[in-house]
Amino acid sequence: MIEAGVHIGGETRRGAGGEVELAEPATGEQLATLALAAESDVDAAVDAARAALAGEWARAPATERARLLHALADGLRAGRNDLAAVEARNVGKAISSVKAELAAATETFRFYASVAAAPSGRTGTLGGSLTHYSLKQPVGVCAQIVPWNYPLMMAAWKLAPALAAGCTTVLKPDPRTPLSALWLAELAAEVGIPAGVVNVLPAPGTPVGSHLVAHPGVDKVAFTGSTATGGEIMRLCADPIKRVTLELGGKSPSIVFADADLDEAIPASVWSIYYSAGQSCEARSRLLVEASVYDEVVSRFTEAAGRLKVGDPLDAETHMGSLIDAGHRDRVHGYVERAGGAGAEVVLGGELPDGAGAFYPATVVANVDAGSEAAQEEIFGPVVAVTPFADEREAVAIANGVRYGLMATVWTGDPNRAQRLARRIDAGTIGLNMPYTAFPGVAFGGFKQSGFGRELSAGALEEYLEEKSVIVAAGNRPSNPFGL
Ligand code: NAD
Repeated sequence: MIEAGVHIGGETRRGAGGEVELAEPATGEQLATLALAAESDVDAAVDAARAALAGEWARAPATERARLLHALADGLRAGRNDLAAVEARNVGKAISSVKAELAAATETFRFYASVAAAPSGRTGTLGGSLTHYSLKQPVGVCAQIVPWNYPLMMAAWKLAPALAAGCTTVLKPDPRTPLSALWLAELAAEVGIPAGVVNVLPAPGTPVGSHLVAHPGVDKVAFTGSTATGGEIMRLCADPIKRVTLELGGKSPSIVFADADLDEAIPASVWSIYYSAGQSCEARSRLLVEASVYDEVVSRFTEAAGRLKVGDPLDAETHMGSLIDAGHRDRVHGYVERAGGAGAEVVLGGELPDGAGAFYPATVVANVDAGSEAAQEEIFGPVVAVTPFADEREAVAIANGVRYGLMATVWTGDPNRAQRLARRIDAGTIGLNMPYTAFPGVAFGGFKQSGFGRELSAGALEEYLEEKSVIVAAGNRPSNPFGL
């Protein structure tokens, strides 16, 4: 049995927020006991982060921070088998997905180690004897709040650029999935990252998470989670004018034109909704299909999705594990039932399985009206909503006709059309004839209510730096505009 708590000032200890038991979503068996963080732990963690900010960390050469980021990556790699098993048991997701996420987390630390010493800047002359240059300095103490669907990878996306920039952090994972972030904090202490630079507080969103966001000792908030909570975070940051970046929900489409290579488009579109059991912000949860190939695509997609192996997360052959918990599974099922009631057709799945574990089958809902709930709301489970379109103009209108704008994948054999859609679709990432979404070095983030700010790119380092313009008079003419 794992005993988990909070990590503050380089030490793991029990939080003061009461004890909860963590059960494995796939089996219902007890995995860990967790002594949650309380508001007093937030105060202690922010104090530790402020003290660390005033120490050597922010002043150290960036190459030294880069060395420590590489050490974190090495530690992740060395511990990958144990860590992957813990994460799979904690989240219930297939170990093949977890291993891919762990590799991505490792590469994220390596990427930010590579760019740490090269923040962008400006320099120039201003006429006369004036020159200017920009000085970058860390934003300060960052509150970083992450959801349960990719606990380790989201922690890496948040921590790596913040640490590269010389910030210190208080990371709040979802209280259901704290284990990998705590593991990471202990690894940070082990490799020599100074105490107080990385603090981890598993706690519920309210009141403890909001206490962290509103804390006067926090300079910047980086949030990943639902659009509704993102709005609340913005409100909490409004009065003190705190820096904030938001990575929020999505309702991303795979758009399949009749001229696409369907042998590629169909299995890739199956993967792009069902990996992580659809619990992905950028899951392509809408399948938009050109009318002339609609029946063929629905039938072949459904056949392929029906072959997915759902079950034990620790089995290397499993494609989909369980959902995060029974409450979330019931919420997903509610969407499917209402879609059926609204005239769409459930052609695969859609039934609550018996037995232990929060499993839900791969589900295909066809003939979904583009304005209906199933096509508009983020279901966050293994459910795809399929909608036909008549032509390119209608495909773009449907793709853009949601409040989100995180990702879109376009499948077409016409390269000019592919480029046109890349320009016309309102989303932070567009995939042309390939389903993948996130790579270190490539900016990731949302349009519209999917949030603002970008992660994963070299530019994301700037989100953790303040730019100071320094203007220098190099000549000996006095500055005396009043002529005094
Ligand atoms: P959520 O918004 O309920 O919770 C996210 C995190 O915020 C959790 O740690 C939670 O404890 C915390 N939280 C909740 N209320 C808070 C408050 N008032 N103050 C401070 N913290 C608070 O989201 P969720 O359901 O756990 O996660 C799924 C959502 O995350 C989906 O909408 C998904 O699309 C989104 N997501 C987005 C990205 C992205 O990069 N855009 C990535 C992963 C997940």
